[in-house]
Amino acid sequence: MIPARLQEILSAALGGAAPSRDDCVRLLSFAETSIEAGMIRATGDAVSRKRFRNEAILLGQIGIETFACPANCRFCVFGKGHTQFPETRLTTDEIVSRAQTFASGGDLYALFLMTMHEFEMDRLLDVVAAVRAAIPSHTQIVVNIGDFDRVQAGRLRQAGVDGAYHVCRLREGIDSDLTPADRKRTFRAIRDAGMDFYYCCEPIGPEHTPEELADQLLLGVEYGCFQHAAMRRVYLLNSPLAGRGQITELRLAQVVAVVALASMACPETDNIAVHEPNLIGLTSGANVVYAETGANPRDAATDTSGHRGLDIAGARKMLHEAGFTALRRGDGSTVPLIPETMRQAPAQC
Ligand code: SF4
Repeated sequence: MIPARLQEILSAALGGAAPSRDDCVRLLSFAETSIEAGMIRATGDAVSRKRFRNEAILLGQIGIETFACPANCRFCVFGKGHTQFPETRLTTDEIVSRAQTFASGGDLYALFLMTMHEFEMDRLLDVVAAVRAAIPSHTQIVVNIGDFDRVQAGRLRQAGVDGAYHVCRLREGIDSDLTPADRKRTFRAIRDAGMDFYYCCEPIGPEHTPEELADQLLLGVEYGCFQHAAMRRVYLLNSPLAGRGQITELRLAQVVAVVALASMACPETDNIAVHEPNLIGLTSGANVVYAETGANPRDAATDTSGHRGLDIAGARKMLHEAGFTALRRGDGSTVPLIPETMRQAPAQC
């Protein structure tokens, strides 16, 4: 029998009321294979499709450089205490070329530029200017970089950066050398500079309790995130957290659904992502996937495209298979979501 309280929470969600913190804990406490979890995922899917008009968003991310990262996140391939990753640095020409490839389909919402926790602001601004000049105006630019202050946020905004991905991660300061207060200060700098704030419940592992997940995901709601999301920690053989294992895509989808329901309390939330891209997440409340090239914190390969990272054609195909009918671009316009095979087909007379 379906618990009465669960039915109340899900009925309220279908009517537009977001679950409370305690309700989120309850939703996250069901086993991922249970009928209750199935109902939660179905409700997350229904709510998101209605809220976002069954439109999806395609994003591209380029990891522009790598070195032993001082943030030392125990779950990341670049953490300075355990990394075996070579130093890499794409030239500006290489970054521009990859950006143009991502944007060439005419349906990319935003291009993400990712660095390590430390980054050279002047170089990043030069890269932003070069990329901005090379891609269409309907594709936005978003940064995924370390902590920065309000002045730096203003410089990024002035250079043409539309948003920033930033997270106070699960067990931040315990499984990383960063401090939650610094992460939240950056959230405020992003918002105060007028940029879109991209947040995520991450990096989820089997050890995280429903209470931890609820508290961390609700931070995105509290700070008015433009994008919410869920991401699992990927098993990396030589990382300090390897022994804790990895959750399934099915469990990740349950978190996606709770993120989608909880985000109804956040008027700024415009879309929901799932990392890494997968169909269960895209049918549980997510409507966004990222294609990736260059470095990726969840991948030991120096170029994640063709490895863990999905290419743009694969991302587009996955969104189509999940039933989305249109792609939204960075200027608010939409284009029909056409599968790759039909995009390649010659015109019929
Ligand atoms: S997750 Fe980001 S901040 Fe943490 S070690 Fe990796 S690159 Fe550095």
